[in-house]
Amino acid sequence: MNPAATIADEPDRIGHWRGGQPWSGGSDRWGDVHDPATGRVTGRVELATREQVDAVVADAAAAGREWAAASLSRRTSVLFAFREAVHRRRDELAAAITAEHGKVLDDALGEVQRGLEVVEFACGAPHLLKGGYSDGVSTGVDVYSIRQPLGVVAVISPFNFPVMVPLWFVPVAIACGNAVVLKPSEKDPSASLLMAQLWAEAGLPPGVFNVVQGDKVAVDALLASPGVKAVSFVGSTPVARYVYETGTRHGKRVQALGGAKNHMVVLPDADLQGAADAAVSAGFGSAGERCMAVSVVVAVDPVADSLVPLIAERIAGLRTGDGRRGCDMGPLVTGAHRDRVAGLVQAGVAAGAELVVDGRDVAPDGEAGGFWLGPTLFDRVEPGTPVYDEEIFGPVLSVVRVASYDDALALVNANPYGNGTAIFTHDGGAARRFQREVEVGMVGINVPIPVPMAYYSFGGWKASLFGDTHAHGLDGVHFYTRGKVVTSRWPDPAAPRPGIDLGFPQHT
Ligand code: NAD
Repeated sequence: MNPAATIADEPDRIGHWRGGQPWSGGSDRWGDVHDPATGRVTGRVELATREQVDAVVADAAAAGREWAAASLSRRTSVLFAFREAVHRRRDELAAAITAEHGKVLDDALGEVQRGLEVVEFACGAPHLLKGGYSDGVSTGVDVYSIRQPLGVVAVISPFNFPVMVPLWFVPVAIACGNAVVLKPSEKDPSASLLMAQLWAEAGLPPGVFNVVQGDKVAVDALLASPGVKAVSFVGSTPVARYVYETGTRHGKRVQALGGAKNHMVVLPDADLQGAADAAVSAGFGSAGERCMAVSVVVAVDPVADSLVPLIAERIAGLRTGDGRRGCDMGPLVTGAHRDRVAGLVQAGVAAGAELVVDGRDVAPDGEAGGFWLGPTLFDRVEPGTPVYDEEIFGPVLSVVRVASYDDALALVNANPYGNGTAIFTHDGGAARRFQREVEVGMVGINVPIPVPMAYYSFGGWKASLFGDTHAHGLDGVHFYTRGKVVTSRWPDPAAPRPGIDLGFPQHT
């Protein structure tokens, strides 16, 4: 984005990235991009047609064939250069995130850092792609395994991490020798173009990394394209399910990460001051627009009576406002999303939950047109009401009171989502039981947002992930490669030929 853009300026036109440079497909469909802290339209993003997507995929397929043949040391040197470029330009990336997503600058920098960790992991591709070798499995016969790239892979990302989520996938896919077509969220598309520029600066050949901007039309084109061999998707559960079902029907490998409702269980023996800090940080960071945000505190009796006032006290100290002004929490991403979340707050009141802090009353440090909603706290929320049942994806923290550990576990396990969860306790036995019994993919013990490091894999269970593999780590390497096993015999010219044998060889 052009930081000098004002309401009087023509909004930036945000196009695609094809053949190693910016590209406008000449589409007649464009979407508005807002600065959430002012409410102004700062950009217009081109929405790709099916034909434009097909053209980019065809280019990517051609570039991918050459890239697949590039040596491991060449691929690695590009990844190291990309790592340096992202590191050098992290402030620009963070500014682009804040300008279109709204999260505060510090948090945007943290997002870039978490993405960088995956780039660093992918720099180890030569080690990760090593196969196995068995010498002499039979007389004169050796067996070895290799992993080969798939071709063109599509990455479809959500609005809430415009840099980190693409970086969960793109560096690993490229390190494995694939070409990538990224379809970013149309709500905050600019950071993808900055990343494309950094790939080019790092020496990645044109056509190996591409960006198509767009909406459902572009997604459907990618899902139907015979040139796309695999799809990594992150977004809401209904779309994730659709992408998984459609992509696999078209014969593609698909991993589709969906929505979440993350529970933080607090046992009576926990450090309640620490638990209150954690609940506020994990509930309201990035205005609750994180798939790993804590949205439900499960307070095991009698914890809630002490914990709820501690949380409310901390909320009173938070400053909501423009992410460029050093505030704690920024606006929501769009006016429509803010209105939806405010509507769910009203639904919570109507359902009888106790509204302890009402974020609709917030006085933001920012322009009046921003998409503001302050931190909101409900106590005595009941499952079966919209505030509990829906993924709110905003700064709304619900406290559900339960009588025992068993009730807390049953609540978490009955939820259709299974992305992240946490338990706060000093009881190692209870924590260990929880870690074994809870049906959730990522578990924190006295850690509210247990996002795995890049060398582990990220992913939830149940309605939070469709497919068999998680993001990055070894799962990522397996997702972006096909395994092949070679059985080889190099006959000794001096030895007799084995001759004809119509049976399976036995102990030869
Ligand atoms: P979204 O589902 O609206 O959009 C995600 C992507 O899908 C975007 O690129 C969008 O253009 C595209 N899309 C939207 N509607 C579509 C449709 N009908 N058909 C085809 N494509 C479509 O999600 P969002 O609002 O951008 O992001 C927030 C959601 O993402 C939340 O539900 C959050 O929990 C989830 N999320 C999950 C994870 C995870 O790791 N599980 C991580 C980040 C975000």
